[in-house]
Amino acid sequence: MKYVIAACTVCFLVVLSSPLINASSYKTRADEKIAYLTFDDGPSPITYSILDVLKKYNIKATFFVEGQKIHGNERALKRMVAEGHVIGGHTYSHNYQTIYKNKQAFFKDLQRGNEAIARITGTSPIFFRFPGGSTNTVHRRYQDRAIYTRQNRSVITDIIKESREKGLYYIDWNMDIGDTDRGVRGTRQMLRHLQGQMHGQKRAIVLMHDSKGKRRTLRVLPTVIHMLKKEGYSFRPITLEVVASPLFEAIPELAFPQQLLNGGEDN
Ligand SMILES: [Zn+2]
Repeated sequence: MKYVIAACTVCFLVVLSSPLINASSYKTRADEKIAYLTFDDGPSPITYSILDVLKKYNIKATFFVEGQKIHGNERALKRMVAEGHVIGGHTYSHNYQTIYKNKQAFFKDLQRGNEAIARITGTSPIFFRFPGGSTNTVHRRYQDRAIYTRQNRSVITDIIKESREKGLYYIDWNMDIGDTDRGVRGTRQMLRHLQGQMHGQKRAIVLMHDSKGKRRTLRVLPTVIHMLKKEGYSFRPITLEVVASPLFEAIPELAFPQQLLNGGEDN
């Protein structure tokens, strides 16, 4: 209970101060099925077409933008804001070797990306997505061994802890369409891949990519939308309600770490 109250207080304060998020528009009931479409690694020329599809279906989504890709695609970011989507940070370089060395390196790169976003949109994101997700194993290869020697301590836990102090929230996913997976080919396989992860979940954070060349993501998107609608989902952009929702405690990869809200130490 303490967790829920703490989370909602944070939610209320930050939502009010963010022009990108309208809390009252996105109040959801516990029994509603909500899908959050998320697009990583853009913007790219594909992004404009993704935005056209979302506009056609009147869906607001979330884009986790890679700072180094903004130049030349500034108009895509302007459209995202104008059309009611939410923008999150996805670091500037997306370079695992650079960002996962230590927490300072991560936040320097994230900040650089967020500043590039803010130069176009006027607002620095409060959400971010770890390249590779928070449960990635690739960080183990690059994290500074002089710092991260203790058991159960990693650069990721350091980043998560500091992100809360900075008022930033990371967002993982619990479903994807396999659009970066070489083993998942063609529209039918992508849809089957997605269907296999639904299990009647009330909340679906769906990972997709709008990076250069992701034409198959664009092609499958209308069918993904139809499939989720048919399964009873309605669509929302990511808001703080997502990170604060007790419903997400039931999904380990989405639950916001309780010890961070309580200000405790990780071991
Ligand atoms: Zn990525």
